[in-house]
Amino acid sequence: MIALRPPASLPGSSKLPNGGPAGFRSAPGGLPGRLSRVAQLLARLPGVGEKTAQRFALFLVTAGEDTARDLGSELAELCDHIRPCTRCGHIAELDDDGRALCAICQDTRRDGALLCVVARVQDLLAIERSGAMRGRYFVLGRLLSPLEGVGAEELPLEALRARVRDPEQPVREVLVATPPSVDGEATALLLARELGAMGIQVTRIASGVPHGGDLEFADQVTLGRAIEGRKSFG
Ligand SMILES: [Zn+2]
Repeated sequence: MIALRPPASLPGSSKLPNGGPAGFRSAPGGLPGRLSRVAQLLARLPGVGEKTAQRFALFLVTAGEDTARDLGSELAELCDHIRPCTRCGHIAELDDDGRALCAICQDTRRDGALLCVVARVQDLLAIERSGAMRGRYFVLGRLLSPLEGVGAEELPLEALRARVRDPEQPVREVLVATPPSVDGEATALLLARELGAMGIQVTRIASGVPHGGDLEFADQVTLGRAIEGRKSFG
């Protein structure tokens, strides 16, 4: 009889929710250990619970080899090829020279004098879906949050100032499209003060987006009107 050696555990496996070295032991639910591991990784995705993760994992092993292999190889390469855009913070694919410039920053038909500042890439994508924004973007990555101890020094203000001053793409108007929440409004006020002092016209998306709501979930018409109806600010 051949003794089977236990397979090596994967990096980060000690952080799995069931604790301890994960290995590929059979899960209590009866899934083979390796499949259970895939299900646990899928369960880390936003909005994916344990049951859905198991369904995905089962689908991947029953839908034909290509599905799992294609997904696996794409995911394995993703981190090597995707970076934040060096100009705006949107998601970009590295080019042959190792530069990351997103499709929006490369699009010469865009109005380079209009810069829309958003908190997250998801907000940028939501505004793009509305079709109302023909300028370019700047992704802050986070909002001021006095309650969570996030101060102005943790926002990329210097990068934003540099972007606004870029002699190749002088900015005339900054549209602040942070969400209409306490943190979003505090951030908008800070930006109005900082950029207003530089002589930049600062506008704010109009009402219509629900207070406390996420831009990501606002419908396209509402968001489109909020962009078109923006007001001077600061
Ligand atoms: Zn970009």
